[in-house]
Amino acid sequence: MRAVRMTHWGGPPVLTDLARPTPRADEVLIRVEAAGVCRSDLHVLDARPGVLPYRTPFTLGHEVAGRVAERGPGATGPAVGERVVVYGPWGCGRCSRCAAGAENYCDRRTELDAARTGTGVGLGRDGGMADLLLVPSGRLLVPVGDLPASQAAPLSDAGLTAYHAVAGIRPTLSLDGDGDGGGGGGGGGGGGGGASVAVIGVGGLGHLAVQILRATTSAQVLAVDVREEALSLADACGAHFGTLLRPDTAAVLRRRAGGVGGVGVDAVLDFVGSHSSLELGVGALRAGGELAVVGSGGGELAVRKPGALPPGVRISLPFWGTRPELEEIVALARKGAVRVETEEFALSSAPEAIDRLRSGRTRGRTVLVPD
Ligand SMILES: [Zn+2]
Ligand SMILES: [Zn+2]
Repeated sequence: MRAVRMTHWGGPPVLTDLARPTPRADEVLIRVEAAGVCRSDLHVLDARPGVLPYRTPFTLGHEVAGRVAERGPGATGPAVGERVVVYGPWGCGRCSRCAAGAENYCDRRTELDAARTGTGVGLGRDGGMADLLLVPSGRLLVPVGDLPASQAAPLSDAGLTAYHAVAGIRPTLSLDGDGDGGGGGGGGGGGGGGASVAVIGVGGLGHLAVQILRATTSAQVLAVDVREEALSLADACGAHFGTLLRPDTAAVLRRRAGGVGGVGVDAVLDFVGSHSSLELGVGALRAGGELAVVGSGGGELAVRKPGALPPGVRISLPFWGTRPELEEIVALARKGAVRVETEEFALSSAPEAIDRLRSGRTRGRTVLVPD
């Protein structure tokens, strides 16, 4: 079978031939129908030796959808022939977090990292940029029915990470008059009586966050990006308002959120995480609001009390998502409430698809399909 391998740190991805794996014990073999390409694949490829707790070589690809091809003798979960998406963060499978389906927050992560066993599919373990993928257990598979594979695959990271970030801020959004804006509603509510949320960065994750917010909350969605085409994508995804990043963007968002003198937005989803995006997020937030930093753009925020952060602000660092949340985002996609913007490439042209992502010439998610 063909596989796109990470062979040495800092090197390019290599398309090679490997023997067909055989599932043993609880393992399940998946015939891959689609594998997404993510910015974190670039971080993995570019990492200096010793930075990531992985052993090379391994096959890339942590957004994978396909069909169950063969099961080990002890395997549970989906049957041979069923179409599935792979839940990507692979924890110990035994701690209380893993038992609850939150392997993204496995309690044994430090131990697993010390043993350099990898953090999940395509991240130190063989991933799905290949014809076949061996998954350690049926617990890591979620059925997708007839959802097209190129839609299903990106749900497992881009979709799930966006969904988990939205789930985290949902309580904050519903504090401010969830549902029918109800006219004279009490207190200092923003704008039309509902909550407001700023989405900074409308790329692979951000465009899904906009749709998830529209499908699961009544909040006013304000999109920010540095690219015009990202704003038109935000508009197509249902954002109420979009603006380019400029020196006065924080004030624009505050005004747009409404209230006396522009009280600020209730929540910020920062899919960039750079110095300027964090600064914008803090500048736009309302007192008691919530900042969720999803992007790994290298920005830093000083926490001091009192200080530059608005009083009562909560900051979270959501990472990937839980298995039950993957089932929820799959259900949203199956009923048509969420659609991933994709660009498809043949598996054999994976190195050039990865280069294209690196140069920033992609719209939405890059997905590899077998050829
Ligand atoms: Zn990713
Ligand atoms: Zn665990």
